[in-house]
Amino acid sequence: MIFFVASSFESVTGLPVIVGYILSFVFGSAVGSFLNVVIHRVPREQSIVFPNSACPKCSKPIKPYDNIPILSWLVLGGKCRGCSAPISIRYPAVEFLTGMLWVLVFWQTGLSPLLPVGFIFVSVTVALMFIDAEHMILPNVITYPFAVFAFAVRILFPMFFAGAYFADTALWPMNLMTGYPAWLISLTGALLGAAAGGGSLWLVGELWKRLRGVEAMGLGDVKMMIGFGALLGWRSAVLAIFIGAFAGAVIGMSLIAIKKDKDMQTQIPFGIFLGIGSVAAYFFGDRLVTWYLGYF
Ligand SMILES: [Zn+2]
Repeated sequence: MIFFVASSFESVTGLPVIVGYILSFVFGSAVGSFLNVVIHRVPREQSIVFPNSACPKCSKPIKPYDNIPILSWLVLGGKCRGCSAPISIRYPAVEFLTGMLWVLVFWQTGLSPLLPVGFIFVSVTVALMFIDAEHMILPNVITYPFAVFAFAVRILFPMFFAGAYFADTALWPMNLMTGYPAWLISLTGALLGAAAGGGSLWLVGELWKRLRGVEAMGLGDVKMMIGFGALLGWRSAVLAIFIGAFAGAVIGMSLIAIKKDKDMQTQIPFGIFLGIGSVAAYFFGDRLVTWYLGYF
């Protein structure tokens, strides 16, 4: 998505690179623990900072030593220490997934200004996917700030980090913008990405609504893909939607087959699949595009 001359972790810290991977996992799973709070509280419109986490069954506050990512759930055997109420496997799953995604981000970007951007992108994606799975919504309080963040990154990074460029700015049509300031070229890429990500989904939803008279696409999906598209660029945004639609179709058809549900109106939280597609496009989009363009 973006290329930097990344500093080598070893040369900057004097530590073996494995330490960078371990730290990424540790901090990532800790953020995953916070995402569990976000996933539980944001759709219920509760504060994410107050009060502290408590068992939903016996209301006993969760002690810090029972709040260690993944490990506490394993030690407690998936049960509350106070009342033995089961704790969903979603909690350690979110922590593990976020930790692993942070490891992949570190592998992808190394020690560069993009590192925190990648961490934020994958963390927001995890939160949105799990909220969509449970509530079938993608809250505005997450999608709007992320879209603003994505545009800010695309405008400010070329200004403040010399030599930084987003992969899409070297390709058509941004490659025609010679002589323009780097931030403007990058912003153009972000606008095209937002249009390809959010705009195309909105168009499909509108067409479907006109043709079938039913709401097929939530506006949440559109808002999510505006931000993701802005960050990824239009090629990767299109790729993300294709991967998402394909994964959604395969899993949706399997669900319909299993449930023997012939009603095609069965709602599928598409945000999950768009999230999978976007993360895949973030990690592999540029490699795929470069490989594909290499054929011409
Ligand atoms: Zn309890």
